[in-house]
Amino acid sequence: MSEIKVFGVIGAGQMGSGIAQVAAAGGYQVRLLDASGALAARGKERIAKQLQREVDKERLGADEREAILARIEVGGDYSLLAETDITVEAATENIDVKSEIFRRADAAMKSGAILASNTSSISLTKLAAVTGRPERVIGMHFMNPVPRMKLVEIVRALQTSDETYRTTYALGESLGKVLVTTKDMPGFIVNRMLIPFLNEACFALQEGLGTMEDIDAAAKLGLNHPMGPFELADLIGLDTVLYIGEVLHREFGDDKYRPPAILRNYVAAGWLGRKSGRGFYHYDERGARQ
Ligand code: NAD
Repeated sequence: MSEIKVFGVIGAGQMGSGIAQVAAAGGYQVRLLDASGALAARGKERIAKQLQREVDKERLGADEREAILARIEVGGDYSLLAETDITVEAATENIDVKSEIFRRADAAMKSGAILASNTSSISLTKLAAVTGRPERVIGMHFMNPVPRMKLVEIVRALQTSDETYRTTYALGESLGKVLVTTKDMPGFIVNRMLIPFLNEACFALQEGLGTMEDIDAAAKLGLNHPMGPFELADLIGLDTVLYIGEVLHREFGDDKYRPPAILRNYVAAGWLGRKSGRGFYHYDERGARQ
């Protein structure tokens, strides 16, 4: 197994900043990259706010917060990744965007380093094939919100070596996560089950089967889910839910995965969920539901 000291993250959105936070809290030196230095800096601000909430609740010391933040270096240039032992990509769920990132990261990173993706549905085997290090490519699928959710799916591409798998697995455990291993099939385990569930809630709403609140209450109180499907879709981001659904629909060629019209319309309107202040529900600046 190779030793991991420097941990790169590409994409400083809700998942990338969560991954960077957990890695820095785990003692790793973190390099957080986004399309520009300003976007990456915004990701670090999000982490600083998140950690401040932990300090306010007396779950973290103020000096620990400072030490975690000091381990995170941000930027918009791929040279930031030169010293990373592993880099986890967490950019937009689009194969063209991710393929280009994989090409550039592969060129910037030292040989032997692992290039992982936090993709929810895209083929790791395809992403591995655009790099010169296919045996060092793997899926590391964290859940949202990353600091709170225990699970990480480890996705083996066809090309992933046993050593890459073992190193990534041990890294996930060192971050306090519980790992499941999945084959490289669209949606892996979690989203293979989740997306049909979220889609069906949208179809039920479209048919007028119940109100949004009724459908969410039915899932919470009738199925013992901690969140209703519309609350969860708003947390994930409706654009991300739609992109994952499109991958499942296209790759399996099965209409049972077809994305509902209401989801397409909301994304077209820019109603992306919590991150844009409005999705199925409305949110204030602090993310509280109106
Ligand atoms: P997000 O929209 O919050 O963040 C995406 C980030 O990627 C943005 O900061 C954006 O600027 C950046 N980005 C876009 N193109 C880039 C490029 N070419 N180079 C560098 N950075 C770029 O999205 P998110 O919710 O954080 O999702 C990111 C990934 O994580 C997706 O693959 C998604 O499927 C996966 N994921 C999401 C969830 C979830 O619940 N949202 C859960 C697990 C996995």
